[in-house]
Amino acid sequence: MEQMALLCVLSTCFSAVQAQNYLLSPKWVPVGFREREERGDATAMDKIIQANEFHATRIIDGTTTLREGDIAVSSGRRSKVCFARSCLWSKSVDGHVYVAYMLSPEYTEIEEKLIKKGMDNIEDGTCIRFVPRTHQRDYLDIQSKSGCWSYLGSRGGRQTVSLQNPDCMQVGVISHEFMHALGFVHEQSRFDRDNYITIMWPNIWRDRFRNFEKFKTENLDLPYDYSSIMHFGMYAYSMDGEPTIVPKTNRNIKLGQASSLSHVDKLKINRLYQCAVKDD
Ligand SMILES: [Zn+2]
Repeated sequence: MEQMALLCVLSTCFSAVQAQNYLLSPKWVPVGFREREERGDATAMDKIIQANEFHATRIIDGTTTLREGDIAVSSGRRSKVCFARSCLWSKSVDGHVYVAYMLSPEYTEIEEKLIKKGMDNIEDGTCIRFVPRTHQRDYLDIQSKSGCWSYLGSRGGRQTVSLQNPDCMQVGVISHEFMHALGFVHEQSRFDRDNYITIMWPNIWRDRFRNFEKFKTENLDLPYDYSSIMHFGMYAYSMDGEPTIVPKTNRNIKLGQASSLSHVDKLKINRLYQCAVKDD
């Protein structure tokens, strides 16, 4: 019994030391990230993990924390759980969904162009239109805070999307965060994901297990999308460079997406917002 207790204490100590190294190392980058980036293999989410973990905190302010690595959750009054269909942006009579935004003046002209490109990515082939805010009550307030993150869906009123410069200034990262703002969670948190992928728990940093939770998602009758811009990469939160997510049917299927939305991502938007855009 004593031995058991000692073992537990030792393993707690060990993981605390590991976590400390992991969190506090100023040069920390995910294992294998640089190689994947050089090969052009890093997914949007790899870049987000790189940016967010570097800042070594999941707490944005006193009441807001990050879930799954980059989804802001407020423990304040508006903590309603928001999955597809529950927190939509409203649709205009002309069939478009106008999402108003304000852009912080601290971005350079080049960064502003990148952010617009991230918006174009979503507008292309969907009914979403990002428009500079004039009088709209609900809007995205795009700012360079600490890390890349967004709230899920429309919360009503002003809502922050953080795109820190220069860390989050990549088109794929920007589109990924806007997808959260439109109401989409990560693809591998679909309730049926275990039919398609295996989560390799022993390879994941123990204190990041929660980033791999499943949720009661609304899948909009769309197939599981390995190549979604909302999918974690194969090595997300890997402790030792071993894969943390492995596709069930074929290990060589590439997970995630670097810079553009997948075909199914666009279908998802069109279904969720009932856009009158041809659906296939
Ligand atoms: Zn995300």
